[in-house]
Amino acid sequence: APAQIAVTGLAVMGRNLARNLARNGFRVAVHNRSQARTDALIKEFGHEGEFTPAADLPELVASLEQPRKIIIMVKAGEPTDAVIDELVPLLDKGDIVVDAGNAHFADTRRREDALREKGLHFVGAGVSGGEEGALNGPSIMPGGSPESYAALEPMLTKIAAHVNGEPCCVHVGPDGAGHFVKMLHNGIEYADMQLIAEAYDLLRHVLGLSATEIAGVFREWNSGDLESFLIEITAEVLSQVDESTGQPFVDMVLDQAEQKGTGRWTVQVALDLGIPVSGMAEAVFARSLSGDVVRRKAAAGVLPGPSEAKADVDRDAFIDDVRHALYSSKLVAYAQGFDAIRAASDQYGWNIDLGAMAKIWRGGCIIRARFLDRIKEAYDRDANLPSLLVDDYFKDAVANGQDAWRRVVATAATVGVPAPGFSAALSYYDGLRAERLPAALIQGLRDLFGAHTYHRVDREGAFHLDWSGDRKEQSA
Ligand code: NDP
Repeated sequence: APAQIAVTGLAVMGRNLARNLARNGFRVAVHNRSQARTDALIKEFGHEGEFTPAADLPELVASLEQPRKIIIMVKAGEPTDAVIDELVPLLDKGDIVVDAGNAHFADTRRREDALREKGLHFVGAGVSGGEEGALNGPSIMPGGSPESYAALEPMLTKIAAHVNGEPCCVHVGPDGAGHFVKMLHNGIEYADMQLIAEAYDLLRHVLGLSATEIAGVFREWNSGDLESFLIEITAEVLSQVDESTGQPFVDMVLDQAEQKGTGRWTVQVALDLGIPVSGMAEAVFARSLSGDVVRRKAAAGVLPGPSEAKADVDRDAFIDDVRHALYSSKLVAYAQGFDAIRAASDQYGWNIDLGAMAKIWRGGCIIRARFLDRIKEAYDRDANLPSLLVDDYFKDAVANGQDAWRRVVATAATVGVPAPGFSAALSYYDGLRAERLPAALIQGLRDLFGAHTYHRVDREGAFHLDWSGDRKEQSA
């Protein structure tokens, strides 16, 4: 029988996705630019299901039932375009091309447009969960047309992660919506990891706890509101001992965080949308700073820190304060992330169901967390919630933790431990809740130096002061 679906690009992600499909009983045609990966897949895992190896794309296309469904899982960017260009002339109207790589959503919109003109469906599908998720059940965020989703749904929902029997896969919206949401997921992941790293750093430097002791703290946190994959693996990494030195593994790792770019994209896009995503921005900047070896070397041990580098805190109380700071800051990062999704959804007419996004992130993906149930519930209560932070549940959570959060930020500043994520999140929270912001002064300055005009609190209209003349107000 012809294959039901094809995967081209058999590096870690594509290979595991193909195996996941085969293990779930689907007949999968497989192809890779260099044949060795195809051969290796068949040799090692051919027994797992019905695979049809193909030596080239024409052979791959010929092995499929119609309408054809082809998943591209190659390096994002030009390689994806190269594969699409080679594939398109081989396809017939109604065929479905899925890009499951980490494409920029603007590329996905362009590709969707181009293929639609040829009568083909193009689905940009975000896939999260890394290697392990691809094999055992990822979180899947497909965009594209509703017709193409209807055709893919039985397969995608089967291979996705499941939480309480529900698949972590839903049609996100048209064209680039799926890749946009996947990008945002990665941005949130950046913020989450930065906050975790700050919590670790504070416990280490303020309390002098060992990596192993901090692993225990995270393990305990993982049984409460913070329960999540990232908190769980933090405990795992912190308790790891380096084999060759006997030192904590984390102490033997070079402290320069790398990035592949999805966090940076998120921040760039959010800047264009005009949505503050300070949690993600600080996370991206913190990674950049960590990798800025030249400047760090020039400053380390040269720039003075505080004279009073010890904080007088109670061990257990401080641990609990840091937990609150982490939870509240994390909540801010998610609130900002969902604001960005809503803004993009409005701008591009995607009509994204925010609660459904929280739902499909509960399993499979890197940011899977207990907390996402609370977000889903918040949007169930009010689909038009202006910010997650004003939902009653989250409002109370922050209200309970804010004094602790403030103490942690103050302590970090006092002892000179960088906590850009915690402090930016707190500033955002205070900015959001402020009845009046100093933006009024900024408007005044703008009007003085650039005649940019201002609005008044008591009257409609735009105004300008004749700053260099009689300082009389005029209607602009
Ligand atoms: P890589 O991103 O390392 O890409 C390697 C694959 O791309 C190989 O199959 C390679 O073929 C193929 N390729 C590269 N250039 C071309 C080209 N010009 N034409 C045809 N094929 C080409 O693989 P991953 O499995 O890590 O990731 C695949 C996609 O999934 C990427 O878009 C990635 O961003 C995304 N992703 C990755 C995750 C991860 O955890 N790794 C998680 C989620 C998404 P060849 O063997 O011939 O070199």
